[in-house]
Amino acid sequence: MNVTTLPKPPRVGLVSLGCPKNLVDSERIMTKLRGEGYDMSADYAGADVVLVNTCGFLDSAKEESLEAIGEAIAENGRVVVTGCMGKEAEVIRERFPDVLAITGAHEYEQVVGAVHEAAPMPANAFLNLVPESGLKLTPRHYSYLKISEGCNHRCAFCIIPHLRGDLVSRRPDAVLREAEKLIAAGTKELLVISQDTSAYGVDIRHQPRMWKGEEVRAHMTDLARELGKLGAWVRLHYVYPYPHVDNIMPLMAEGLVLPYLDIPFQHASPNVLRAMRRPANDAKVLQRIRSWREQVPHLAIRSSFVLGFPGETEEDVSYLLAWLEEAQLDRVGAFKFEPVEGAPATSMDLQVPEDLKQERFERVMALSARISAEKLQRKVGSMIDVLIDAVDAKSGGATGRSKADAPEIDGEVHLRDAGGLTAGDIVSVRVEDADEHDLFGVPLEFVPA
Ligand code: SF4
Repeated sequence: MNVTTLPKPPRVGLVSLGCPKNLVDSERIMTKLRGEGYDMSADYAGADVVLVNTCGFLDSAKEESLEAIGEAIAENGRVVVTGCMGKEAEVIRERFPDVLAITGAHEYEQVVGAVHEAAPMPANAFLNLVPESGLKLTPRHYSYLKISEGCNHRCAFCIIPHLRGDLVSRRPDAVLREAEKLIAAGTKELLVISQDTSAYGVDIRHQPRMWKGEEVRAHMTDLARELGKLGAWVRLHYVYPYPHVDNIMPLMAEGLVLPYLDIPFQHASPNVLRAMRRPANDAKVLQRIRSWREQVPHLAIRSSFVLGFPGETEEDVSYLLAWLEEAQLDRVGAFKFEPVEGAPATSMDLQVPEDLKQERFERVMALSARISAEKLQRKVGSMIDVLIDAVDAKSGGATGRSKADAPEIDGEVHLRDAGGLTAGDIVSVRVEDADEHDLFGVPLEFVPA
């Protein structure tokens, strides 16, 4: 009989101070750590790291917290501080410079991340029931990376802020740590998502955090740059065209971020955009798209549009069609306006009849399909990088995506003679043909001489 000797999991000591809310936080943190395989230690001596969950409600509570940190440092030496006193990190650092990490109240993700760093879990399938990169519902080679939750806007057709509340951004170091783990687990493409990626960090005043010895602001540009340095493809979704999006172009030109922007314009007519209460409703958007393309010639822009919003007129639709012709977007998704319970647009006057919505939708789809086909046709004969999503052993072919294609929503690249490739490979492909949405090609290694 084979007997497997399990490595000992790291042990975490806990000192929980303060009110019941703090206790619940401690329970949550410990539940998460136990779920990951960590053991608890009842004393300082047996702990690989000690977590001190502090209280800062009164001066006396602060002093008690500082004493508890001091005792943990003296008895064990490896200490992570969390809780209300996290707001006064300088006070703690001044008195105890050896503290490993300080996080604030309710920052579960950060405190658990600090424990991972202080006492890493040894790799073992029996201990780590959940892989370090978390459980994923996507294939191994691409991963969604959520950078914030909620939204500060109040678009008339949307109930997301009502359901999920205002914008709450994650700390940049936590996002980067997650990205690094995903890449270590095989991710080749990071898909940055949120409700409004351009607004990332506004709620936390772009507060910087230390990452690999340098400060990184909670700001879309800084985060995109640091993500780009990790070496995977970085694709930005749900970007609103605020002025600072211009600063992403140099990152694309440098190859740190994919030349791709998913911008949910939803309409082009100023009247409709105003009625929709859309953010970044800027009349000069076409000019900016032109300037972006001058800096990043292969920039692919995808967007979505709503047809038949209450009050939309024939002039608004003509405006949109002319705008689309000018903007030459690479990918367009169109939707017919649907009244959602609780959204202000649902009770607006001048609702558009269904048959008119359908007719407008079809016009936009037909124009977009033509533009897409023309743009893809111009790629025939060129070389592009393709990330392989699936291989078909029977036919010897494979399906993948270029830098211009996000999974599920954009087109694909169909490869012939792709034997030997596996999902997650990135190969150079010569484009041989195109249709309205997809490209067809052959991997470079297989191009006949
Ligand atoms: S549609 Fe508007 S309100 Fe809804 S999530 Fe997007 S930006 Fe926020």
